[in-house]
Amino acid sequence: MSLPAHARFVVIGGGIIGCSTAYHLARDHKAEVVLLEQGQLTSGSTWHAAGLVGQLRSSASITKVLKYSVDLYKRLDEETGLATGWKMTGCLRLACNQDRWTEFRRLATTARSFGMEMHLISPAEVKAMWPLMEVSDLVGASYLPSDGQASPSDITQSLAKGARMHGARIFENVRVTGFEMKGERIVAVLTDQGRVACETVVNCAGQWARQVGALAGIEVPLQSVKHQYIVTEPIPGLSRDAATIRDPDRRTYFKEEVGGLVMGGYEPDPQAWDTGLPGGDVPADWQFRLFDDDFDHFEQHLAQAIARVPALETVGVKQMINGPESFTPDGNFILGRAAECANMYVGAGFNAFGIASGGGAGWVLAEWAVRGEAPLDLWVVDILRFSGLHRDRQWVKDRTLEAYGKHYTIAFPHEEYSSGRPRIVSPLYERLQAHGAVFGSKLGWERPNWFAAPGTEPRDVYSMGRQNWFGPVGDEHRLVREAVGIFDQSSFAKYEVTGPDAERALDFICANDVTRPPGRLTYTQLLNSRGGIEADLTVARLAEDRFYIVTGTGFRAHDRSWIESHLPNGAQVAVDDVTEAYGTLSLMGPRSRDVLAQVSPDDMSNAAFPFAHVREIDVAGHRVRALRVTYVGELGWELHVPIDAIGDVFDALMDAGTKEGIRPVGYRALESLRLEKGYLAWGSDITPNDSPFEAGLGWAVKLRRNSDFMGRTASETISARPLAKRLCGFATEARDVVLLGRETILRNGEPVGYLTSGGYGYTVGRPIGYGYVRREEGVDEAFLREGEYELVVATERVPAHIHMAPLYDPKGERIRA
Ligand SMILES: Cc1cc2nc3c(=O)[nH]c(=O)nc-3n(C[C@H](O)[C@H](O)[C@H](O)COP(=O)(O)OP(=O)(O)OC[C@H]3O[C@@H](n4cnc5c(N)ncnc54)[C@H](O)[C@@H]3O)c2cc1C
Repeated sequence: MSLPAHARFVVIGGGIIGCSTAYHLARDHKAEVVLLEQGQLTSGSTWHAAGLVGQLRSSASITKVLKYSVDLYKRLDEETGLATGWKMTGCLRLACNQDRWTEFRRLATTARSFGMEMHLISPAEVKAMWPLMEVSDLVGASYLPSDGQASPSDITQSLAKGARMHGARIFENVRVTGFEMKGERIVAVLTDQGRVACETVVNCAGQWARQVGALAGIEVPLQSVKHQYIVTEPIPGLSRDAATIRDPDRRTYFKEEVGGLVMGGYEPDPQAWDTGLPGGDVPADWQFRLFDDDFDHFEQHLAQAIARVPALETVGVKQMINGPESFTPDGNFILGRAAECANMYVGAGFNAFGIASGGGAGWVLAEWAVRGEAPLDLWVVDILRFSGLHRDRQWVKDRTLEAYGKHYTIAFPHEEYSSGRPRIVSPLYERLQAHGAVFGSKLGWERPNWFAAPGTEPRDVYSMGRQNWFGPVGDEHRLVREAVGIFDQSSFAKYEVTGPDAERALDFICANDVTRPPGRLTYTQLLNSRGGIEADLTVARLAEDRFYIVTGTGFRAHDRSWIESHLPNGAQVAVDDVTEAYGTLSLMGPRSRDVLAQVSPDDMSNAAFPFAHVREIDVAGHRVRALRVTYVGELGWELHVPIDAIGDVFDALMDAGTKEGIRPVGYRALESLRLEKGYLAWGSDITPNDSPFEAGLGWAVKLRRNSDFMGRTASETISARPLAKRLCGFATEARDVVLLGRETILRNGEPVGYLTSGGYGYTVGRPIGYGYVRREEGVDEAFLREGEYELVVATERVPAHIHMAPLYDPKGERIRA
């Protein structure tokens, strides 16, 4: 079979991800697909995977993707006639200490929130299920009955056969060597066997995805790491249906295979694969190849595994597998379209759970590539979560190795990474440090999370309960509610949108009306074709043809790409990222006007500078772009200061605010303040799965205006029928409960949803959470008010009150249309 001259889709890579994507493109979309594999199918990372298949993740959407994989592996052989080796053995996770046990209790609640069955069982029950296991050090275990194991190569061959049955053409021994580009668009894929013109490319090249992406100008931040496991000879007494085991406190995992065990682990000192090729490229001829056994490095796992399964001490090791797999800096895989190329989608960086993800990842990636829009909220895996920082190979490597090393460590709430820091700092970094700042990092930016009191150590002490910052953050919170505080939010992403068609373009892209006169600012969502919220940002109109957009630090590449890729055809408009040009100081609190008035000759009165307006003002001799807006629900200004002047402006504000007790305030207080006032966070409370109507933001959708905008049709449909879910606030009576998000919401004892975010409100003195209450037939006020509510927190039921309005709003400022 020779290569065709043209195909609508070219999928690069014949591992599990490429085959699954080709299968779904062909089966679900009847698309014309060509898959190109440089060696043979499965010859990359797929053939040597251990084959454990777990499903539960902290994101509901990713859990759904993994559940889909299991459903597909169960029945694929009926369709293709090729078995996948799927065995629903269940998975045991072992807890050896109380913190781990708390983590599992929270996981069990998350599982219930996501509609999965997970049991917490005693050491004796573990022993009964898995008699060869030593359980004397166990506190207990979680058991997820629908997890299992499968044969990676068999699944992949079955998917490939299915793809062919639906019309896809698969070519082995064809290597992609480049792309023919027209601007930012690929028009043809170049190979060592010729050229294939195409409309869309899907890069599923595994650990080669970075170098394949680079051929089209995109960055796929991943790092190959060596991962080892052993396969033992048969172990007498080991059941063929033994549950897979994850023993995170001993950093190891187990799976039954042909009567013996597969055993591997995640060590704290992982080994990156330095290929020796320029740029760290992976050799093209790395097919069905492994590294030499490294028992010295593996010994740490063996010692732990023998303590768990003593039979391992005497059983023979049949084989050791030491293979490379691509890992990412945050432990999540990578899907979607990169900003730099109009028609290359990526599915790579599977962090040693590509077999578990393969079926579902291929499903959503195919949908995404066909429709140009993710079919559900896939933000945590979206390639647009990365930024320019991720072009730094050394940084990616350091952070990736840290993430690998943490694979099995206890996930303490609010835990920060420590590698590659500090990386990007605002000019205020040293000043904030002098105030006792404890920094967190977001997209490489160091941002103050909280400030330690003089004489106390400025560092996080992680625990499963209240952490050491709880008190100081409360003080910061109260300062902002009662007087004035100053936040360094310089990491905010900022763009200027200019040109004769800027108004028309933004009017189409934004759900709210941004066509108000210069000097006004508008809070708006950007909607996808399903009416779901793709972005949540502030648009300030500076002039007839000039807009200033401010959005969250982490959404920099995503929001810009969404705006640029939805500009109306032929529109004369430019989108410039000006993030580094301006530092942002948010001066917030009832006394903020008094402070600002002292350092600015401009009129700060409400009449001269009303809410939801933008003005250029002078502060401490510098021209500053001031936005009267708030995320804490108090009087305040975001001051966007030319970056070189931010030190002067900060010092002047701090001096002017001495009498008011002004202090710098961090992001953890911001979170508490916003929760109390009902300001929503994109990525958790509002996502591409949620419409503004369901989130209580229907007032910000310009349905009454007779203009077309992105998501209008879907918004009309959603707003015209009963809402199947509605975002509500919850507060518990018990004050010592720790809410983190994903706690189950019970109405009259029945699950109706889960918290999308949770925390503590220091003014109301209560734990607070937000979450969608769901009901197929519709959720109305009466339904909400008539229920009795509880939250399930780490498997325990806690009485809660529902709130349809912000929990604290006596006289605060809110953005309304
Ligand atoms: C030791 C080990 C154990 C593991 N255990 C598990 C497990 O228990 N459970 C689990 O879920 N996951 C596990 N994994 C992870 C799993 O193997 C991977 O996540 C998965 O195989 C990734 O699939 P892929 O399709 O992305 O990559 P690959 O299988 O590597 O496929 C990519 C393909 O692209 C091809 N390609 C690259 N460049 C080109 C080019 N220029 N032209 C054409 N073709 C090209 C390659 O030849 C390759 O075949 C394990 C990994 C390792 C290393």
